[in-house]
Amino acid sequence: MSFAELGLAEPIVRAVTENGYTQPTPIQLKAIPAVLKGGDLLAGAQTGTGKTAGFTLPMLQLLSGKPRPAARTVRALVLTPTRELAAQVEESVRTYGKYLNLTSAVIFGGVNINPQIQRLARGLDILVATPGRLLDLMQQGAVDLRHVEILVLDEADRMLDMGFIRDIRKVLAVLPPKRQNLLFSATFSDEIKALADGLLDNPAMIEVERRNSTVEVISQKIHPVDRDKKHQLLTHLIKEHNWFQVLVFTRTKHGANKLAEQLCKADIPALAIHGNKSQAARTRALAEFKSTDLQVLVATDIAARGIDIDQLPYVVNYDLPNVPEDYVHRIGRTGRAGSTGEAVSLVCVDERGLLRDIERFIKREVPEEVIAGFEPDPNARPQPIQLRSQEQRGQPRHQQGKRAAAPAGRSGGKPGNASQHHGSQRSSQGTASAPRPQNAGTTTTSAARPPRPTGVRTSALLGQPAANAAASKRRSGQR
Ligand code: AMP
Repeated sequence: MSFAELGLAEPIVRAVTENGYTQPTPIQLKAIPAVLKGGDLLAGAQTGTGKTAGFTLPMLQLLSGKPRPAARTVRALVLTPTRELAAQVEESVRTYGKYLNLTSAVIFGGVNINPQIQRLARGLDILVATPGRLLDLMQQGAVDLRHVEILVLDEADRMLDMGFIRDIRKVLAVLPPKRQNLLFSATFSDEIKALADGLLDNPAMIEVERRNSTVEVISQKIHPVDRDKKHQLLTHLIKEHNWFQVLVFTRTKHGANKLAEQLCKADIPALAIHGNKSQAARTRALAEFKSTDLQVLVATDIAARGIDIDQLPYVVNYDLPNVPEDYVHRIGRTGRAGSTGEAVSLVCVDERGLLRDIERFIKREVPEEVIAGFEPDPNARPQPIQLRSQEQRGQPRHQQGKRAAAPAGRSGGKPGNASQHHGSQRSSQGTASAPRPQNAGTTTTSAARPPRPTGVRTSALLGQPAANAAASKRRSGQR
């Protein structure tokens, strides 16, 4: 089915065609007609599925041809968790709406508020915002949300993860009762369900699998290595294989900074991107990385959220994530848009428990390859993993880094309590009582691919027993 057949107007179809889109993606096939009908929508979809166009295209159509917004008013509000995602969504609004006479702007923190106040003063058809800065602007009387016709919560699960629920509720409180609400989330925790229950009125429900997030298009590998040799091994791998456009994940902001410095010292152009960086620095790093001027981008999980780069060839887990779902999110950055990708994890003895959790979650063992010259010390003893970010989240210092290291080895015995503290870290990430959308069939791209006995599916994040069990264990601290 074409974009025109979905009911989109000619100027919108022209813009997407010029952008190189020939066919709607599965989520667009479902979301566009649902949004055009004017009702509420609950969508299970991640970055990479084409979800942005899924809500932006029909939103543009619904807004076009209507009277201009009055001063300081906004007709459609899109809330996103990160500045990067906000900027990307607004860029999409401009791209897809280039033949329409609509106005849009993006606002987020970390930059001067005054130009934002000036921009809002004229009124906007579409405002894309992160919740914190929007609240600031509301409190200053710079924006009037009483005439919002369409509200979009994009990556709602991440917004809750990042602690935005109170800000979101304050925003919701000033919106008019009669409006169209669209909620997009990759996972469905109790908190998301509660938010959806209070927000949505008889929503259409759709769920799609992430495009190419399955393990079979992504080659995964573990390189066992001592914890203090990781940066040397990474330098070696990048130089040896001449890797370009490498996205490297670290556990902490400090770790990201340190690694970027170490790589630069080894003549590998690298920049770190995380929440403590100024917006200008983040934007510059991302632009350089996208244009391939920058060989390596080092990122924390939250900062990487919203980075939309197709066909990223290499993802490196410099540190394994604390939550198995994040491993799937991370490696899903590669192998996008039908291309294959490589996901490499550097695993030291401290991370064996995390690795076991991940392998259980993805239901397969990841092959290991020891690199000559980087053989890990067989007598190395596991040490607790320091989670600096806990300090910033207000966890008492005496509780930090308490995660007991699991014994080395892959099989046998009970899993280490690697995830015991994860529940407190990421309490809203749970998927324990995921409400599977009921009145819409799961849309997947799997029909075009062979059956996958062990592959990871987005739907695994949306309520399959394994995910449920893992999440509820994390919540209750069982292991
Ligand atoms: P999103 O999930 O919205 O972040 O989109 C992921 C990527 O898919 C972006 O680079 C979009 O430009 C691209 N995209 C979205 N819709 C389509 C489409 N129908 N055909 C090809 N690419 C698309």
